[in-house]
Amino acid sequence: MTSFNGYLLEANLIGGEWTGAAEGGTIDVTNPATGAVLGTVPNCGAGETEAAIAAAKAAFPAWSRSDLMMRVGLLQKLHDALMDNQEALAQLLTAEQGKPLFEARGEIAIGAAYIRWFAEEIRRKKGEIVPAPQAGRRLLVTHHPVGVVGAITPWNFPSSMLARKLGPALAAGCTVVAKPATVTPYSALAWGKLCEDVGFPAGVLNIVTGSARAIGGAIMDSPDVRKVTFTGSTEVGKTLIRQSADTVKKVSMELGGNAPFIVFDDADIDAAIEGAMIAKYRNMGQTCVCTNRFYVQAGVHDEFVAKLTAATKAMKVGDGTEDGVMQGPMIDAGAVAKVEELVADATAKGGSIATGGARHALGGTYYQPTVITGATQDMQFAKDEIFGPLSAVFKFDTEEGAMAAANDTEFGLAAYAYTRDLGRIFRLNEQLEYGLIGINAGLITTVEAPFGGVKESGMGKEGGTQGLDDYLVSKYTCLAGLD
Ligand code: NAP
Repeated sequence: MTSFNGYLLEANLIGGEWTGAAEGGTIDVTNPATGAVLGTVPNCGAGETEAAIAAAKAAFPAWSRSDLMMRVGLLQKLHDALMDNQEALAQLLTAEQGKPLFEARGEIAIGAAYIRWFAEEIRRKKGEIVPAPQAGRRLLVTHHPVGVVGAITPWNFPSSMLARKLGPALAAGCTVVAKPATVTPYSALAWGKLCEDVGFPAGVLNIVTGSARAIGGAIMDSPDVRKVTFTGSTEVGKTLIRQSADTVKKVSMELGGNAPFIVFDDADIDAAIEGAMIAKYRNMGQTCVCTNRFYVQAGVHDEFVAKLTAATKAMKVGDGTEDGVMQGPMIDAGAVAKVEELVADATAKGGSIATGGARHALGGTYYQPTVITGATQDMQFAKDEIFGPLSAVFKFDTEEGAMAAANDTEFGLAAYAYTRDLGRIFRLNEQLEYGLIGINAGLITTVEAPFGGVKESGMGKEGGTQGLDDYLVSKYTCLAGLD
């Protein structure tokens, strides 16, 4: 067992102190690859969260008014500290989450890249002097940090989802109370130590683990928390949006997806398979931008299915720390049961299993990467987020039909299409009701571009020049009487 360079921390960070729960309770954290207990974290609730909010509030005046270049310098050091410890942090991520090590290394690197990006972007966040309608007046528009930020993150990207929130929040001059997912708390707690090590002041970042309802409730109830940024399920996101009303908080929501992946007759099929594998099976299918539905045009359907099935079968399944493993365990028993339910529903309605379709011989939460053909819109996975290594292949005839089926969902996060017809590409851009569109590309997330969904996939953007806006409020100041 690796030491994780001291980044496996079994305490919470509140106001610069590493502490336990007031009543001493803890929660076990297990490795999904082995079922072994990795350690514990404090089982905190409302009281500890209120203390964390008070610490963040106390730290806000000095941090929000600090020299911009001081914050930029700390963020650059934070980037470097992440990359200096990339291997240990990736090992820790794989140990608590299960994804293969190569993916975990990538997650640490993109998290670091978000930090560097926002350290750069904040230097360019200019205000405006607006032309005044009357002589003797000057109209200023200036940007200011929104205040204390509550950040709630999911288990599927336990490090980079926090990076996307910490980068803009800390750059803007906000202070933060973070609540990571209970099954994967260590990658978040490691951010606390990294921030402490590079010199962020006490109280700027606070991290609380424990009861989602109690911690979330305290964050949502507090008038001192001015903004909540959430990544997770649409169901919980809706609850938080409702709860935000009482204190009129700014919210940004990165919620569930149901990504279509449309392959047209004119597509380069080998390129489409390469894109399909990454868009479907990354993190064992447990990403919000994972393909949920493959729509394949009749002329290339059989070739696509044969190649997708062969590539799916060829993936090595196992503990993410082993060489060559492409698919680790799923996060927990509930996730496996959901895939089983979807497979049973599809086969009962006439779908055929081309490969997989059952638990893996490794036991635990391992599931065989699966391809189902003959998928139809009445099957449960046409509507539900699969969140597992299950490819559902639908056959279509016309562009209009594919577009209508692709949009037939309340979600609108990511969509992919493979075609070389430029006119069609513009129609896809205009008509697909999605916040992220990959044309001939299955992996499109990058720090330079705004990430975020439409419809019930959420509101707000992370990354890009837009990623700072959710952490800032603008003020208009009218200057008169000075001439
Ligand atoms: P989840 O169940 O909604 O949990 C997300 C976070 O919310 C966790 O920290 C969870 O804490 C917390 N939480 C749960 N109930 C809460 C409540 N009542 N009040 C406050 N916080 C609460 O989602 P998940 O299963 O971890 O993540 C998977 C989902 O996230 C999928 O739907 C996926 O599509 C979505 N996702 C979206 C994006 C995006 O950018 N759009 C990115 C990644 C994931 P506990 O862990 O303690 O329950």
